[in-house]
Formats: sequence, C-alpha cells, structure tokens
Amino acid sequence: MRIAVLSLQGAFEEHRQMLLRLGADPFFVRETADWKGRVDGLVLPGGESTAMVCQAQEGGLWQLLQERIAAGLPVFGTCAGMILLDRTHLNVMDIQARRNAYGRQLGSFRTVAPMKGLGEIPMTFIRAPYVEDYGDGVEVLAECGGRVVAVRQRNMLATAFHPELDGDPSVHRYFLQLASGRE
Ligand code: GLN
Repeated sequence: MRIAVLSLQGAFEEHRQMLLRLGADPFFVRETADWKGRVDGLVLPGGESTAMVCQAQEGGLWQLLQERIAAGLPVFGTCAGMILLDRTHLNVMDIQARRNAYGRQLGSFRTVAPMKGLGEIPMTFIRAPYVEDYGDGVEVLAECGGRVVAVRQRNMLATAFHPELDGDPSVHRYFLQLASGRE
C-alpha cells in the first residue's frame, strides 16, 4: 500500500520506518508535486502544528490534503497531526483538539493504556493535545486519565500520542487495515 507521509516537519521518518516494517510503501510529501501516482493513505505526523499549517498553506498542499481526505482518503494523524485534522484546521474530522493540554509539568509522559480492539498499548505523549469535544460520528478508541486520546471517524484516525516512537506497530497496523477497507 502506498502511504503518503507529510514530511514538512516533525517525526515523519519514524512513521516511514514503522510503515516499512509493516510491509507498506511509504513516500514523503513536502509539496503538491510529490503527490503522484496511486495513494492509499496519508499520515500526518507529530511536530509543531502551527509550523506545518504555515508551510502547507504556502504552496497549495493544504487544499490538496483537505480535498483528498474529504473525498475519502484514509488518514492517520498523530499529536500535531490530530490537531491538523480538527475543526479549526483542516476541518475534516468533527473533533476539537486542545493544544498543549496537559500543562508544562505533565506535558510529556509515557504510559500504557487500552485502545479499543488493540488491548494495552504503550502511549508516549509529547506536549500533546487531547480531544475536548467531538460529534456523533466520532468513535472514541482510547482515553487516558479521563481524556479522549484516540478517535476514529470513518476513514480518519487520530491519536494524541506517538505510536511511531514506541516500537509497537499495532496502531499503524490498525490504520493499514482501515486504509485497505478491512476495518
Ligand atoms: N504541541 C504541538 C502542537 O501544538 C504538538 C506536539 C507534538 O506533535 N508532539 O502542535
């Protein structure tokens, strides 16, 4: 499966490694010209959402991503990627992410918690958001400390944590199943 990985900034290489490990065929997208051939899915990595928004808007990539996702392209956003998918940014998922939501002291931490269908998985949070509001079509897949940290809406998956940093491929495997229509 050919998976586009937005590579403007942030943890894109770690996503590529994880996708390769699962037998997918990832490629980097920095500008609209990189968007070529068949694309089966898209990963929006963690990083700094404001920086990614600015860069993506410059060359028209923002609009392309918005159109493709709205047209049904499977997408997986982690951390800043979750923020990009929300109502105030790409406005493709019916979620509102709260940025840097855990405060300075608790901004980065690691835990193990259950995710629906996957059992207990490691979760690494780095100045992470959480989902503070969501619409009827959104399924909550994981909560941590009473906060919603993983959600799915049709073809769209978002986690507040970073599964690409933990060596556990289960969330990426789940995304590839979703992207192939098997989930
Ligand atoms: N704090 C970042 C933001 O607001 C997200 C952090 C991350 O992706 N690890 O965009």
